Amino acid sequence: MAEKIKMTTPLVEMDGDEMTRILWQWIKDILITPYVELNTEYYDLGLEHREATKDQVTFDSAEATKKYGVAVKCATITPNAARMPEYNLTQMWKSPNGTIRAILDGTVFRTPILVKGITPYIPTWTQPITIARHAYGDVYKNTEMQVKGGGKAELVFTDKEGNETRQLIHEFKGDGIIQGLHNIDNSIAGFARACFNYGLDLKQDVWFATKDTISKQYDHRFKDIFQEVFDAEYKEKFEAAGIAYFYTLIDDAVARVIRSNGGYIWACKNYDGDVMSDMVSTAYGSLAMMTSVLVSPDGIYEYEAAHGTVQRHYYKHLKGEETSTNSVATIFAWSGALRKRGELDNIPALCEYADKLEKATIQTIEDGVMTGDLYLLSSLENKKKVNSKAFLEEINTRLAALMQ
Ligand code: NAP
Ligand code: MG
Repeated sequence: MAEKIKMTTPLVEMDGDEMTRILWQWIKDILITPYVELNTEYYDLGLEHREATKDQVTFDSAEATKKYGVAVKCATITPNAARMPEYNLTQMWKSPNGTIRAILDGTVFRTPILVKGITPYIPTWTQPITIARHAYGDVYKNTEMQVKGGGKAELVFTDKEGNETRQLIHEFKGDGIIQGLHNIDNSIAGFARACFNYGLDLKQDVWFATKDTISKQYDHRFKDIFQEVFDAEYKEKFEAAGIAYFYTLIDDAVARVIRSNGGYIWACKNYDGDVMSDMVSTAYGSLAMMTSVLVSPDGIYEYEAAHGTVQRHYYKHLKGEETSTNSVATIFAWSGALRKRGELDNIPALCEYADKLEKATIQTIEDGVMTGDLYLLSSLENKKKVNSKAFLEEINTRLAALMQ
C-alpha cells in the first residue's frame, strides 16, 4: 500500500455518545487510519467525561476549534430528566452543540446527500435545499420562569447611565409562564454575511424569512439587517453571479419551499432552522443523509452529522443484537473536516482522499448495499441490507480501489 497521507495541523476531534460513538471508532479504524496518518487533538465529549470535567471539556474543545480552525464532532447526548440517573449526573449539563455554537457564534449549513434510488418524499425536490441555521441566541439562550398566583410581568432594559425602559408583558390573574429572548445585531449581520458568502460559493439563491408582521421589533430587525448587509456589500456580487436574495414571511416561505425544485440556500432563524432541517432531511430520505457544518464569521469550521446518538440502536447493540445504523452523515463530517484541513494546509492528497471517501460511500449505496433506514426507501431492484459494520467494510472495498 502507498504511504499514508500526512497532516500538518491537528484536527480538533470531539468524540460523543451511544451508537454514534461506536460508529466513530469504526469509521476511524476501517476508513480513515489505513489511509491517513490521523493527527487530531482529542476531546471526549461523551456524557461521562462531561460529568467528570463538569462540562469543562466542551468549553476546551470549542477553544481548541478557535485555535486550529477546524473540528469534527460526533453526536452527543443532551441530558434530560431520564439521563440523570442513567449517567449519575450532578447537573443537567447543557447541550454541547449549544455551548459550542454560542462560543463560535456561527451559522450552521445543512445539506442533504442525494443518491440514486432514493426519491425524496417531495419528488419535485430534484436538487438539494441547504438550510442555513443561525446558531446564536433566541430560545437557545433564553431566560424563562413559571409564575404563580398572579402578578405583573415587565420587560426592563437598563442602559449604561442607569436609565430604565419598561414595557408591560402581561398582568397575570393566575399561574403562567414567561420567556426572555435576545439576539445581537453583530451576530445577525454575521449570519447574513455567512449566508450571502455561501450563496456566492455555491452560485445559489439565498432565501430568508421571519415573522416580521407579528414581531415588529425582534423579527423585523433580522429582516432589516439582512437587507442592509445585502444592499451595502452583496447586491452587485449577486447580480454578477446571476443569483438573487429573496425575503418573504416564514409561512409563505414554507409554502414556496414545498412547491420548489430545491437548489437554493434557505436562511432560517435558530429555531426555524432546528425544525426545518429535520423536516427537510426527512423529506430527502433519512436524517442520516444530512451533512452539517458550523461556519463562524471569522472562518472557523465545525463538521458534524445532523442526527442524534441513535439511542434505540445503541441499546440493541449493548444487548448484543445486530444493528444497521447509517454512518453516512458521520463519514461526511470526517471527509468535510479533512478536506477543509487539506485546503487550509495546502495538502491536495488529503482533499483527494476526502473526495474519494465520499465517492465510495455514495457508490456503495448506489450499488445497492445499504443500511436499514435506506433499504426501506430505496427503489433499487438489487438492494441488500447490511449491518452497521459490514456497511463500512463495503465502503472500504470501494475506497481501497479508488485509492490504488
Ligand atoms: P436520533 O438519535 O437522531 O434518532 C432518532 C431516530 O431516527 C432513531 O431512533 C432512528 O430511527 C432514526 N435515525 C437517526 N439517525 C439514524 C442513523 N444514523 N441511522 C439509522 N437511523 C437513524 O434522535 P433521538 O433518539 O431523539 O436522540 C438520541 C440522543 O441524541 C438524545 O440524547 C439527544 O439529546 C441527542 N441528539 C444529539 C444531537 C447532536 O449531537 N447533534 C442531535 C439530536 C439529538 P429508528 O429507531 O426507527 O431506526
Ligand atoms: Mg433538532
